[in-house]
Formats: sequence, C-alpha cells, structure tokens
Amino acid sequence: MSTIIQLTADPGEIASRAVSRERHLRVSSSKKALFLLFLLILGGCKKRQLTTPTIEMDIGSEFWIRILLLNDVQGCILKSVSPFSVIDEKADPQIQIAETRFNQINVPISLELINGRITIAGKTFANDEVVIFPGDPYIFNLNGSDYRGKLRLIINPDNNSFDVINLVPPEPYLAGVVGAEMPGYWEPEALKAQAITARTYCFYIKKRFGTNRNWDMKQTAAHQVYRGLAAESTQIWHAVNETKGQVITCKQSDGIEDIFPAYYSSTCGGHTENSKNVFGDSYEPLTGVPCPYCQDVAKPKFFFWPMIQFNETDITARLLQRYSQLKQLGEITNITVVGQSDYGEFTRLTKVKLHGSTGKSDFLRAEDFRLAIDPTGRKFRSTICQIIKLPGKWAFFSGRGWGHGVGMCQCGVQGMARDGKNTKQILSYYYPGSKIKSIY
Ligand SMILES: [Zn+2]
Repeated sequence: MSTIIQLTADPGEIASRAVSRERHLRVSSSKKALFLLFLLILGGCKKRQLTTPTIEMDIGSEFWIRILLLNDVQGCILKSVSPFSVIDEKADPQIQIAETRFNQINVPISLELINGRITIAGKTFANDEVVIFPGDPYIFNLNGSDYRGKLRLIINPDNNSFDVINLVPPEPYLAGVVGAEMPGYWEPEALKAQAITARTYCFYIKKRFGTNRNWDMKQTAAHQVYRGLAAESTQIWHAVNETKGQVITCKQSDGIEDIFPAYYSSTCGGHTENSKNVFGDSYEPLTGVPCPYCQDVAKPKFFFWPMIQFNETDITARLLQRYSQLKQLGEITNITVVGQSDYGEFTRLTKVKLHGSTGKSDFLRAEDFRLAIDPTGRKFRSTICQIIKLPGKWAFFSGRGWGHGVGMCQCGVQGMARDGKNTKQILSYYYPGSKIKSIY
C-alpha cells in the first residue's frame, strides 16, 4: 500500500514547539502558575500516552496479527519498560524451564544467535523458537522503535540467522497502521474508512497466506505500513476504537459473503482501476469507479508527476532481476502497450509487451513492469502515463496519480469526508456492493 507523505510533524513535536513559543511570552504570576500547571499536565499526558496499556491482550489467538519486523538477522537490541518473560513454547516442562524472567528495565538487551542458539542477555535457549512477553503495559522497543504485544524469535532452517515477529492484537496493530498510512489530522470519517479497510486487508492476507508461514504481514508498503507506537495519536486511536472489529465483505464466487482484499492506494488520478488488471483477482467491489475527489486533496506536484527516463540497459537489468524468465529475450529492444483502461481524459496502462534482441517477446502486467523498473514507486508513480523511446533510453510522461489505483483512493476518501460524507458512504462508493460487518 502506498503511504501518503506526512505533511506535518507529529503531535508531540507540535506540542513542544508550542511550549517553547509560550516560554517567550511575558506572563503574570497567576498566569505563570497556570502555565506551570499546563506544563505539568502536558508532561503527565505525554507520559501516560507512552505507557497506555495495550488493549485486547486477552482476545482469542485467531485474531492476533503476526508482523515480520526483521528477517534473516544475527542480532538485535531489545528494551522494555517493564520486566519481561521469555517463554520457550516447545520446552518439555518435565526437563526444561519453560519461562525465564528478566528484570532489566529500560536497558538495552542484546538478542543474538551464538553457536546457532538464541541468546538473550547472555542466557542461551535450547529450542529454535521463543516468545518474549513484556509485562503491563505490554510495550517493548526493538532497535529503537516502540511496539505493543509480544515478540517471537524463530531460528531459520540454515541455523545462521533468525526472524523477529511482532505478535499484536488487531486494534493496537491498526493504530500503528492507520497513523502510518494517513495523516492523523485528516477528517475523522476518512480515518475510520482507513481503519476498516486496513483491518479487512490484514485479515484477508492472514487468512489467505498466513497458514503457510510464521507471519501474516510485512510492515512495509508491500502490505501496509506499520510503525507501532510512533504512528499512534488520540485521533488515530479514536478511528480504530470507533470501528472496532469492523470489516467489509462482499459476495464471493461461491455466493458466500466474506472478506476480500480491500486494496487501497494513495491517489488514483481520477478513476480507480479494476483489480483484475493489476492483481489478477476479480471481486465486484474492485472493478473501478470514477474519482473526482483526489485532485482537490493531493497537491498538484503529487497528482501529476514529472517525466522520468531510464537507460535501456537499466530497464533490461531491472526486469531480469525480478523476472528471470525474461532472460530468453536478451536485451529489451522495444516496449509496446497492449492493454489499457480508457477513462476519456486519460488512460491507465494495464499490459505491456516486451520485445527482445533474440527475437522472442513476453508480456507483463503494467503494474509489475512499473515496480520492476522502480521498486520504491517514488519516481515511476503510476501506470497512468505514456511511454516514448528516445536514443538509448525510455521516457515515461504525462503521469498522474500515485500507486496502483485499485480500491479505495486515500486522497479521494479525504475529499469525500471533507464534503460531509460518512464512513459508510465512503466505503460503499469505493467498494460498490460491499457491506460493513463486525467479526469480533
Ligand atoms: Zn482518486
């Protein structure tokens, strides 16, 4: 999912700026006392916010989200604001101690692999997997970032590295997602629509792919951005709690009403795209709708993107790096558009044909082509563009929008909310035929 560029500093930073401005004001002694009280309250609030206990720690295990925080590492640094336990879930209680207590509060503790074994603050664990369970408020810091819930360490099959997975209840997870995907000062109804969409998407991915691996979600835009406590604010928590347990569903091919991949992206550019053309899946709510809303919200420099150029050799190298089957083409000598969605004022490329120096050719979805050329998507921002061949290079121009364009348009949601539309109206606009349902 695409992240919208954060336009302001975080609320804590704004508050401390306000405080330093206040210091320069001349105030009377009574005002001074009030001001000191204000500072105390502010300090107290900040402290409380950082240690607000993590909710839903007792929710059923089927609802916990597993986020891959680090993969294939040899070590990392943990800090906890409370004593924590390390639970060896595979330990045989007859011969091993299954729970070890650590009382080191607020000190960096190294989690590392020594001789192929997990070692925490110098203590070695026998099994390949342990769970770190901090006490109330159930918050820990990993390599400088604060997260809620627990942490699972799993040694990889090669015994040379381990993965670090955050186990977190759904609402605390979503607080770390919604605040990373949308600015906290956006309209409350927009934030609520984002919370429901992010919840739906995460439970869909968990159900569809989670059973075959040790984690459900990555914390990057490959799934949806998750920044833990750094993304939280009062407004974000309000949106998450107000929509607690709510997802959107639609009729599946077997006629049963169920969740679907509620994709969303930053700025659709004027019309959302049919998921079939981008991800290859077909759902009634994901066939695409006109979006007259995002142009008023996104800044012109983000709504339209400037011409970009890539060398022919770079294009070949990047495509081969991601798609080894293209090797048989040799050098890419020509790129032709063979599929596009025509929206009148503009078209979105959906399929390209790659012609090679060996005389062979192959096809790619335009979105896959885009992300192979620019994996960050920060330059080559969407497939609403035109392609032209220049000597030794390719240029992409007349670009508009940012992201894949399927499902909800985040800037469009803010536009609708500003116009007075509520969460339900917004979701049924971007996902026609969908219904809101509570799952817990
Ligand atoms: Zn839009």
